Amino acid sequence: MADITTDVLVIGTGPAGSATAALLSTYGVDNVVINRYRWLANTPRAHITNQRTMEVLRDLGRDVENEAYLFATRQDLMGENIFCESLAGEEIGRMKSWGNHPLSRAEHELSSPTRMNDLPQTFMEPLLFKTACARGSQSRMSTEYLRHEQDGEFVLTTCLDRLTGRELTIRSKFLVGADGGNSKVAEHAGLPFEGQMGVGGSMNILFRADLSRYVAHRPSVLYWVMQPGADVGGIGMGLVRMVRPWNEWLIVWGYDINKPAPVVDAEFATGVARQLVGDPALEIELLSASTWTVNNMYATHMQKGRVFIMGDAAHRHPPSNGLGSNTSIQDAFNLAWKLAAVVKGEAGMGLLDTYSVERAPIAKQIVTRANQSIGEFGPIFEALGMTGGTDIEKIRASMDARCDATPAAERQREALRQAISFKRYEFDAHGVEMNQRYKSAGIVADGQMEPSFELDAELHYQPTTWPGARLPHAWLFDTEGGKHSTLDVTGKGRFTILTGISGEGWRLAAEQVAKSLGISLATHVIGPRRALADLEGVWSRARQITDSGCVLVRPDHHVAWRAEEMVADPAAELTRVLAAILDRDGVAQRHAAE
Ligand SMILES: Cc1cc2nc3c(=O)[nH]c(=O)nc-3n(C[C@H](O)[C@H](O)[C@H](O)COP(=O)(O)OP(=O)(O)OC[C@H]3O[C@@H](n4cnc5c(N)ncnc54)[C@H](O)[C@@H]3O)c2cc1C
Repeated sequence: MADITTDVLVIGTGPAGSATAALLSTYGVDNVVINRYRWLANTPRAHITNQRTMEVLRDLGRDVENEAYLFATRQDLMGENIFCESLAGEEIGRMKSWGNHPLSRAEHELSSPTRMNDLPQTFMEPLLFKTACARGSQSRMSTEYLRHEQDGEFVLTTCLDRLTGRELTIRSKFLVGADGGNSKVAEHAGLPFEGQMGVGGSMNILFRADLSRYVAHRPSVLYWVMQPGADVGGIGMGLVRMVRPWNEWLIVWGYDINKPAPVVDAEFATGVARQLVGDPALEIELLSASTWTVNNMYATHMQKGRVFIMGDAAHRHPPSNGLGSNTSIQDAFNLAWKLAAVVKGEAGMGLLDTYSVERAPIAKQIVTRANQSIGEFGPIFEALGMTGGTDIEKIRASMDARCDATPAAERQREALRQAISFKRYEFDAHGVEMNQRYKSAGIVADGQMEPSFELDAELHYQPTTWPGARLPHAWLFDTEGGKHSTLDVTGKGRFTILTGISGEGWRLAAEQVAKSLGISLATHVIGPRRALADLEGVWSRARQITDSGCVLVRPDHHVAWRAEEMVADPAAELTRVLAAILDRDGVAQRHAAE
């Protein structure tokens, strides 16, 4: 007999685990979430929060979304990505980033009802964890996962209660390993990985100092300091990252991974800060210092029976592109509704297999992208003449040469401009953040070809209702003057049908199907004099179906299926599609076995 019984046990209260617990509780699923420490994130770590993540928070509730904005640094203060010799020294170049270029800003605004922002993990994690606890998650701090075993029905997990020193057992229907980059759950489940850990060494130095005079006129999250000798190890140069404008900072500084990690004491930290800020008299209030390694590893499969992994447990990569906690929270959004559907008996176990099928390719994509972004600093170093040796005088002369009035210097300046501009693949890669399209048994194809990308798929989001893609955002207007995103009227733990006035028949069909399958299925008929009108015509252009057709949207905003136009028997068609997605054969087999 286990000490504790629950439906879902979540290991870890980081962004992945806390988001999972918050979503499960919101969906009414009994869950326990544990953390081996007594605290939540005690350093800022992840911070760039993209629109897709904000859509997850918005789906949890406008209160959750608004609290994130309350504590976040606004998007317009994130925008100037600066390359300099030091904060006080010469500026080498800059590029508008994180949706702050006017063209990129327009794409952001057209793509989502939410705004990108900078929310350090010290704010994001408590927000998600608090939401989970407020909605009924049972949380246990100082509780360490030790091992698990599973059979066809349950997972039995053994933990250590670090307050009493005693072991305790938790029996659950499912186990979620959101236990970070050194995941024991992934290891014990024997999940396969590709790549390598520890490909570079980095240190974080967190400190307080008022640096307004160096930065307030060129607001940014990231100030890249390029000094002779900086292209060694880690992320290749010094980074001064804004944590709170403009008096809390995190320096990221590389060290040679082939040598032992340096001891970062107050003297060392102050020295690095003075060097990167370029102020030999700078006084800092050191808050913490730690070393970490750059990883390049991802799980090729994220599920073993009733055990799942997510977040850093599944994808381990450097902070480049700011994808760490974003992808972790989005993993949670993919898995939580599926677990809820199975726990509630609405779906068979087959639905859970789609989690790994959908998210493992994304794990590979983001790990590859983040590591590639490190390499893409190379052309900047080359243009500045900073590669190929440690002769400081020689490097200095190469860096100075770009200021000459010679054809060679002109070429050098052009190469530098190109190299900096190319970094938009790290600092303004809206497509990487928003273009995720799933292909799995959790999606029913409609026979249409996948739309190819007209623009660069890494830089630009391309909306489509092609099954598997995220539902495009469009504003819809109610009769009271209020406006709602298409993403607001979908999600919330249930399937939704969007149709036009000529598609009224889908509503009746949906009611029948919801009743016969025992699921919640919402329908919105969008048009003039209906509860929601497409006054701007944006939805009609984005929906890619006729007025009588329908788009079936999953609880995680991804299009499950669509019909070009009304069909002869809409109830039969919806039943076919939903029964396939929800693995209703699996439900029937389960009932037969009971
Ligand atoms: C030192 C450091 C610096 C980072 N800096 C950045 C950065 O600058 N930018 C960026 O984008 N990303 C950064 N990251 C990565 C980012 O923080 C992660 O991508 C993100 O936190 C992943 O979320 P997660 O929930 O998957 O894992 P984590 O946030 O790592 O959470 C793991 C959770 O599991 C718990 N846990 C682990 N083992 C056990 C166990 N055996 N039993 C019980 N609980 C357990 C932990 O206590 C924690 O609550 C950094 C990470 C670290 C560790």
